[in-house]
Amino acid sequence: MSVQTLEQAKEFNFFESVENYFDKAASFTKFPKGLLEQIKTCNSVYKMNFPVKIGNDYRVVEAYRVQHSHHRVPTKGGIRYSHKVNQEEVMALASLMTFKCALVDVPFGGAKGGIKISTVGLSPMVLQKITRRYTAELIKKNFIGPGLDVPAPDYGTGEREMAWILDTYLSFHPSEVEGYACVTGKPVSQNGIRGRTAATGRGVVYALKEVCSYKDDMDKLGLATGLAGKTVIIQGLGNVGYHTGDVLKEFDAKVIGIAEREGGIYDENGLDVTKVFKHRKQSGSLLDYPGAKNMDNKLIMEMDCDILVPAALENQINSSNAHNIKAKIIAEGANGPVTPEAEAILLSKNVLIIPDIYCNAGGVTVSYFEWLKNLSHVRFGRMQKRFEEATQGNLLDMVEKMTGKTVSKRDREMVVHGADEIDIVNSGLEQTMVESYTQIREVWKKYKDVEDLRTAAFIVSINKVANAYLAMGVFP
Ligand code: NAD
Repeated sequence: MSVQTLEQAKEFNFFESVENYFDKAASFTKFPKGLLEQIKTCNSVYKMNFPVKIGNDYRVVEAYRVQHSHHRVPTKGGIRYSHKVNQEEVMALASLMTFKCALVDVPFGGAKGGIKISTVGLSPMVLQKITRRYTAELIKKNFIGPGLDVPAPDYGTGEREMAWILDTYLSFHPSEVEGYACVTGKPVSQNGIRGRTAATGRGVVYALKEVCSYKDDMDKLGLATGLAGKTVIIQGLGNVGYHTGDVLKEFDAKVIGIAEREGGIYDENGLDVTKVFKHRKQSGSLLDYPGAKNMDNKLIMEMDCDILVPAALENQINSSNAHNIKAKIIAEGANGPVTPEAEAILLSKNVLIIPDIYCNAGGVTVSYFEWLKNLSHVRFGRMQKRFEEATQGNLLDMVEKMTGKTVSKRDREMVVHGADEIDIVNSGLEQTMVESYTQIREVWKKYKDVEDLRTAAFIVSINKVANAYLAMGVFP
């Protein structure tokens, strides 16, 4: 498929959008056409239909697992529960996973799963039945395993579903010593890792922090550097949206608007995301939050703000609303929230888009850490924490002795503290986001015709995947 200009643009479906972004970036590389075609193609698509007994009736459930690229194994990607799930959507999401993993140097191929169900109104018992049956279908076809394909949470799923997947997998593989690494995003009690639940949102904030640290780039947007004081609007108060808003507090950014399915709320003085989340949980709606104005959930995305974080679903910013978006930066918490048509409009308005394959890569990065933890059978920090604390304590004692001065109890605790699992996870995540942005920005600045961060990010990823194929000698 050729790259389309704004004038030629038609609305792409989600998979076509990803292909379009790929083609645009690939045109800046010199790899053979066949190799690029191989990189773009989904390697395996598994569609299944299975029965689930609900009450006295049976329901046929449609589900998918797509492994986009086997250039690295295992493949990796979340599982989505939504009544809108379809094959091209799962293929698009699986493709994005390949480029995301390559970009952040997570040594996996991309994959994604989807079950076409609406979770609203389904009891936990029925959801458990569906999840366990889906896992059994994956096991039958060798589509799950620590070295084969490792699922994780996505839209509509979380650590509860991952615990069901793990338990089903282990019942089929009771003696597999590495079995716990068959899925990530598990509860900590089930060998999950601290920091995974918040990782995608935290990664979005680290990405924003990095992007906003460059004066030249911020000057072009008419913004100051740093996150402090920046106004933010978030679409979707689920895993990604909530944690993005929550972590933004650490950097003094101000969330002024939130959109959910039932509507939006706006308060120019700032919203406390934790309190808003509790309000929604208790009342069943985001609306009528004390002190905030109720708004239409689409219109709220068009309000004045520095940063817009779409963190719900794909295609939310498209040719119908892109002209009205006033944000100067769009941070793609969701996968594929901006269509190519919308992107062309936004770029012409000088909006900086932080692309999904970079912006929301925190989730898969910490999933990788969880997988490593499961394979090594030891919690990060366990072996060295006490040793580090003793060494740092001795050093401080010596400094105090030599200077004759004593540091406060608080300062001593801070200096002596040995790294816990959460410290290691969050610092590994931040380092990954910083390093990856350095690579993207370098390409963005190097090629005169690369006008956007998405194309630059895809170029970085394509180079890495293509070089992996070339090293394997598949294309001598
Ligand atoms: P989630 O189910 O936890 O939350 C999504 C939220 O969006 C829900 O609260 C839902 O009610 C809301 N929503 C749906 N339609 C909406 C609309 N039209 N307007 C406003 N809100 C709407 O899902 P999630 O895990 O946060 O995933 C969100 C997006 O982030 C998806 O695109 C997913 O692929 C992507 N993502 C998730 C992860 C992860 O670790 N969970 C990692 C990377 C990317």
